[in-house]
Amino acid sequence: MDLMEKVVSLAKRRGFVYPNSEIYGGLAGFYDFGPLGVEMKNNLKRLWWKWMTVDHENIVGIDGAIIDHPRVWEASGHIQSFVDPLAECKKCHHRFKADDLTSNICPDCGGELMEPRNFNILVPTELGVIEGEKTKAYLRGEACQTIYLDFKNVVDSTRVKIPFGIVQIGKAFRNEVTPGNFLFRQREFEQWDLQWFTHPNEMDKWFEFWKEERMKWYKELFNGSTKLGFYKHEKLVHYAKKAFDIQYDGKELEGIHWRQDWDLGRHSEYSGVDLSYTDTESGEKYIPWIVETSGGVDRCFLFLLMDAYHEDGDRVILKLNPKVAPYKVAVFPLLKNKEELVKKARGIYRDLRVKKGVPAVWDDRGNIGKRYAAQDEIGTPWCVTIDFQTLEDDTVTVRDRDTGKQDRVNVDKLSEYLQNKLS
Ligand code: ATP
Repeated sequence: MDLMEKVVSLAKRRGFVYPNSEIYGGLAGFYDFGPLGVEMKNNLKRLWWKWMTVDHENIVGIDGAIIDHPRVWEASGHIQSFVDPLAECKKCHHRFKADDLTSNICPDCGGELMEPRNFNILVPTELGVIEGEKTKAYLRGEACQTIYLDFKNVVDSTRVKIPFGIVQIGKAFRNEVTPGNFLFRQREFEQWDLQWFTHPNEMDKWFEFWKEERMKWYKELFNGSTKLGFYKHEKLVHYAKKAFDIQYDGKELEGIHWRQDWDLGRHSEYSGVDLSYTDTESGEKYIPWIVETSGGVDRCFLFLLMDAYHEDGDRVILKLNPKVAPYKVAVFPLLKNKEELVKKARGIYRDLRVKKGVPAVWDDRGNIGKRYAAQDEIGTPWCVTIDFQTLEDDTVTVRDRDTGKQDRVNVDKLSEYLQNKLS
């Protein structure tokens, strides 16, 4: 089994990610996040949101609709350019990107390929209830468009001043021709975007700033992984002076884009509403330029699982950054048939979970070794055992996932001990 197969299997076995509609045979490019997956994904999104809107100044958030006015996708160029020429096999009907082909022979079955045709990857939908009067619309192909649409509203309704940023985490939909590689290429996925609005004179400075800043964030999240790197684009869209991807193991995780005045300019032109900005001090009026950082939440989730996956003999240890781990701590009574131990352990568990807000999980199955193994496999960084000594001196054992080291900690210092490790 290769690493991806192992991760897919673990993700399903332990409740991180399930194939969508599995009982009907699944639906290519769609996945559901299970009980552990949703906790981890929420942790990830919260970290990103706090880093953007609290740790940095002058960044505000929005949460936009998934369907926008159909003209948006004309202005953005997606209706024209979100197309991939594909060649379909006459025999097995598999489709292949024309760019990837070297002959008209089907790579899968050896059949003959038809002439390449254009397939638009925007996902269409219809609005309205009366047949014949329905309006064609699209599920957004990228989340960032909503930020451009709300740019003027944000400027008019808040106190932001250039330079400033608007962020959003939201779903995007694409009729990907070749969905696959688990969460890597889906048809429904989530993006986290920053659109940073700047004066043209400062574009270069901010581009470099955000490029480095985003890499720093990923480095910390991935425990300093050396598999993270930049990819410099040589082929650039006409408005971009430069473009970089942040990659994990050679695969795109996030794009750092020089969007200049392209988006606000196009929406000004197509909507007829002037989206320029007036500097209150100098009086200068201009269309702001944009630095975009646009990443995939699901790709980040997938790469985190892959990076964290370790084997020690036949045991699996998920060495996740504690900040994203679904549970921070597991609480065990040494023996499940000793009432005093269970009662004491229950109290500590509830106190951590409910009063102190530390995501904790209870486990009293099997022996301690099995419980450690089960928690290691889902990435729980610390396990707390309540034993007979606890009943005497009110201390517990805290065992560390990665080192196996055990500390004896006072119960009344436990949440502080964990919080310190988490910060
Ligand atoms: P790719 O070249 O891999 O198709 P892209 O350059 O089209 O990606 P963008 O449009 O820049 O991607 O989207 C920003 C981010 O959204 C990507 O860096 C990626 O993390 C994520 N993303 C894009 N398409 C998908 C998808 N089909 N499934 C999951 N995540 C995606």
